[in-house]
Amino acid sequence: MKKIIFIALLAAMGCKPKTETKEETTIAHDSTKTMSSIQKSAFGKLADGQEVTLYTLTNDKGIELKVMNYGGIITSLKTKDKNGVSEDIVLGYDSLAGYLKATPYFGAIVGRYGNRIAKGKFKIDGKEYTLAANDGQNSLHGGLKGFDKVVWNAAEAMTPNGPSITFSYLSKDMEEGFPGNLKSEVTYTLTNDNELKLDYKATTDKATVVNLTQHSYFNLSGNAKRDVLEHTISINADKFVPIDKTLIPTGKLQSVEGTPFDFRTMKAMGKQINDKDEQLDFAGGYDHCFVLNPSTDSLNHAASVIEPVSGRKLDVYTTEPGIQFYTGNFLNGTITGKYNVVYNKRFAFCLETEHFPDSPNQSQFPSVLLKPGEVYKTSTVYKFSNL
Ligand code: BGC
Repeated sequence: MKKIIFIALLAAMGCKPKTETKEETTIAHDSTKTMSSIQKSAFGKLADGQEVTLYTLTNDKGIELKVMNYGGIITSLKTKDKNGVSEDIVLGYDSLAGYLKATPYFGAIVGRYGNRIAKGKFKIDGKEYTLAANDGQNSLHGGLKGFDKVVWNAAEAMTPNGPSITFSYLSKDMEEGFPGNLKSEVTYTLTNDNELKLDYKATTDKATVVNLTQHSYFNLSGNAKRDVLEHTISINADKFVPIDKTLIPTGKLQSVEGTPFDFRTMKAMGKQINDKDEQLDFAGGYDHCFVLNPSTDSLNHAASVIEPVSGRKLDVYTTEPGIQFYTGNFLNGTITGKYNVVYNKRFAFCLETEHFPDSPNQSQFPSVLLKPGEVYKTSTVYKFSNL
């Protein structure tokens, strides 16, 4: 009712619910609590002159998400702790410049293929494709200029669930070595139920491989006050995907039983991270894909994380078969991010929902092949709450 009155009021004032000025666009609608809104501001320019825009989405409970059209990168995500204090729970830089230097995919959409492809090679219908080897001999996260380094088209909208933004990008045939013109779309919705919902969609005109994910580095302590080793986590997985020393799957699935990979009940991320274990040695900690136990729910409850001091909780739900749990092992203190925090080893964790790494070369894994006429569609929800 209130919403209708608000829109009617705007109409009486000769305004549409969406108002535009040269500098800034604001779409807003009333609600019973804080006003949910979308604001738009300039965030800088790329070397080639392309303008980058930063969108600030706020839901009616006061969660605030900042995301830019460059790489669909989430630059800030503020949620409340158990005392109602709003702080940032993702790593990143203060300005665009940081993101334009070498960045470990902070907050970005990763594609066309999230995670690794062995030796950067795969075959479709007998034809071999070669990608750049940007991670030792392997291809990682879509290549040298993946979806994290391109400017996406953006369309904002106020939806009944909350403010949203849809990024779209056409990845041309043979871009980064992948076949097919791939039209991709990622919608971020900041729901009024305190969820960040990601809906991915893609179509192609030639058979190709697709594995899109979101690469936010979370630290639920708020403004990255300390490392994440005291965060507790549970992952709904009886098995994980073991890797070789180049972090490529061996091809087998291994039971988590009796290993440091058993997160079927809540345990601190740091509890077994330094155990003597070949898998942990290969990755310098956790950097593994977990095989989610099947569920009858379309959105499978994949993982829960709690930061005991702040009382923040994160739950992850997904339609994907796997989730990469990465404990920021390669952060090494060389990056100083927002709030002047030095990002040391294990200062964040990532939960990247996806198909398993190297699936194009592992026919026993769920397929990542997308053919003309098919629609790639996946969804992931990050839900925020308090203890
Ligand atoms: C990978 C890590 C990698 C990180 C940043 C994660 O998805 O699993 O091995 O270091 O992304 O590139």
